[in-house]
Order: sequence, then structure tokens, then C-alpha cells
Amino acid sequence: MSASKPAAATGDKILDVNNLGAWYGESHILHGIEFNVRQGEVVTLLGRNGAGKTTTLKSIMGIIGKRSGSITFDGQEIVRASSDKIAHKGIAFCPEERGIFASLDVRENLMLPPNVRDGGLSLEQIFELFPNLKERLTSQGTKLSGGEQQMLAIARILRTGARFLMLDEPTEGLAPVIIQQIGHTIKRLKSEGFTILLVEQNFRWASTVADRFYVVEHGKIIDSFANSELQANMGKLHTYLGV
Ligand code: ATP
Repeated sequence: MSASKPAAATGDKILDVNNLGAWYGESHILHGIEFNVRQGEVVTLLGRNGAGKTTTLKSIMGIIGKRSGSITFDGQEIVRASSDKIAHKGIAFCPEERGIFASLDVRENLMLPPNVRDGGLSLEQIFELFPNLKERLTSQGTKLSGGEQQMLAIARILRTGARFLMLDEPTEGLAPVIIQQIGHTIKRLKSEGFTILLVEQNFRWASTVADRFYVVEHGKIIDSFANSELQANMGKLHTYLGV
């Protein structure tokens, strides 16, 4: 399994977000978001419900109508690019609701999104990563468990050749054993050179996969720390997240 490599080397900034604003109609949601992701990292956005985490991912994907500020990806400005152009740069978004088409079977769901770049995983490589999906190939979307749907949603973007994966709450509503599997998958993808930006409520799980964390509140980044600093920041984190 191999990702088609971007120009940036491992450790270089692949995504750099500066002073990002975003609006839904008249509602001003993001107020100057600033963070970065280095090539090959797993970075997690934490924050309370409604803080603006999903809106940040959608802004990067270009699916929020009005954005301001700067988003550079692999050295190129994309804040005003169309979602189609952004997808062709190798950025993919896996939404919280997973977006599996109920009336299509697993194979049809997998084959639906167009290839955006060379280097997408073959079906064989996808089945090696997610053996369950091979067994369920002809099952309709509606017949899949939550875990299978999540795996299918990740598999689908891997097939397209995307190399920068944005996963919105991939563990939500899943059983602990499946959450553990998703963790193994993320670590495997990281080891294969993919870069991953996660939104997660479950920061204990996120700490098993993430290199760094950013905390979002009221549409701004209010704190950041490396995974190695998580324990030292636990008190603050409980306050930020209200847990
Ligand atoms: P959650 O875990 O609840 O999704 P979040 O941090 O991802 O939290 P966002 O989904 O980014 O939060 O929402 C940020 C704010 O934008 C919230 O106040 C939300 O009500 C609002 N919002 C989200 N989607 C829309 C929309 N389509 N139209 C208008 N407002 C929206």
C-alpha cells in the first residue's frame, strides 16, 4: 500500500491555516482559526459541541459558502478554490454522518467517488486493510453496522488517491472493539505516509493515535499541545471540554 507522495517531505507543513473565517449565510462561525499539520502527522481538533471543528474541516474542503483568511496546502493557497479543485489536490473529508448510500451495496459505494489522483488503493489493498468489507461486498448500505459503515467511508476515500484525510468523529457511536480497530487503521495509514486531521470528542482514544492536539472554542484555536504533553494538560482539557 502506498500513498502518492506530495511535494512536501515528512515533517514539513502540508497544511497551514491562518486567520480562517467562515460563515453559514449571515452566521459568522469561525473567527480567525490558526493551526498547521505537518506531512505524515495525525493532528486532532478537540472542543465542545458547536465550537466550530466540523466547520473547520468543511472550510478546508471548500464546502462552506463563505471563507476568508488563508489555507495553504502543499504550498498552494486554496481558501478560494472550489471543492472539486481541493479534492484533486488529494484532500478528502469523511463526514460524521459517514455518507454511505443506503440503496447501494459495498462495492458500489466504494466505486462511486471519482479518482482524484494516482496512487489510490486497489480493492485488494482495501480488503487487506478492512477484511470485513470483503465479506460484505454485496451487502446494501442499510445492512451494514455502524463500524462497517465507518470503515467503508474511510475505504472509499482511500480508493480515490487522497493522501490528506480529514475524519470527523470516526469513533462516534461505535463499540469499543471497533474503536480499537479504527485506531489500528489510523496508525497503519500514518505508517504508510498518509496525513490525518481528526475531529474527536473522545480525547482518550485520540491520545492513542494523535501526534498533536488543538482546542477549538467559539470558532478560534485557544490552545495546543503535543501528545506527550497531554497528561500535564489534563486539568485544562477537562475545563475546555466541560467533562
Ligand atoms: P459538533 O460536534 O456539535 O458538530 P463542532 O465543533 O463540529 O461541534 P460545528 O458543527 O462546526 O461544531 O458548528 C459550529 C457552529 O455552526 C454551531 O453553532 C452550529 O450550530 C453552527 N452550524 C453548523 N452547521 C450549520 C449550518 N448548516 N447552518 C447554520 N449554522 C450551522
